[in-house]
Amino acid sequence: MIIPAVFAEEGTEEKAKVAIIIDDFGGNIDGVYRFLKAEIPITVAVMPFLDESTEQSVAADELGFEVIIHLPLEPIKGKASWLGPMPITSDLSTEEVKSRVRKAIKDVPHAKGINNHMGSKIVGNERIMRAILEVASEHNLYIIDSGTSADSVIPELALEMKLRYGVRDTFLDDTRSSRNHVYKQMLKLYDQAERRGEAIGIGHVGIKGTDTFNGISDALKYLEDRQVEIVPVSDIIPTAIDVDPSGFWQHIVE
Ligand SMILES: [Zn+2]
Repeated sequence: MIIPAVFAEEGTEEKAKVAIIIDDFGGNIDGVYRFLKAEIPITVAVMPFLDESTEQSVAADELGFEVIIHLPLEPIKGKASWLGPMPITSDLSTEEVKSRVRKAIKDVPHAKGINNHMGSKIVGNERIMRAILEVASEHNLYIIDSGTSADSVIPELALEMKLRYGVRDTFLDDTRSSRNHVYKQMLKLYDQAERRGEAIGIGHVGIKGTDTFNGISDALKYLEDRQVEIVPVSDIIPTAIDVDPSGFWQHIVE
């Protein structure tokens, strides 16, 4: 039986749901401690194998944040240095890919899922994505497609493998974005959630981390009265999902 999410609980005035994933945790970079000290229920995406990856994962979990692994995947364009240590690249054997994912899971304790850092090349590579998703499945982790490529095989594979998955709707920032840009992207994210019942946004700590934090905080004050709640991303992605042409997330009720 297939029921669009927004109508799933008839008769109750359910609030729309927004998930805010903040990527690139793991190093001592701008925005990390602002977010960890604040009470915005973000989902904390930690890059493995950085100086503070394990420490920040443990701290975020203790503070009540949902933690996911921000797995570095090779892009079509970009410098190797942007990927950080032990990335997943297209030259690796299937066994080596699995081994790196298993090490990443150890390095980012308490993780409930995985999303991709960069990866425009890898998300279209079925051999490698299947290897990553097999390890995710072994560890009962969901997968979020950060949406860095239109050729991603993640949704298709996740459905086939019956893995929980979600896809990013809106990027809240980029490397040049101002506090005001982040604010506007947040309004867009809330509008999407109200239209569809739920929406997933992704922002970043790093060079512009303070602007991202401030832009989100400004927007939340302005959006206070909206019928939207911020939830961990696992609250949005059901057991098995598909997207119908009207844009509703569909929950497949088993
Ligand atoms: Zn990233």
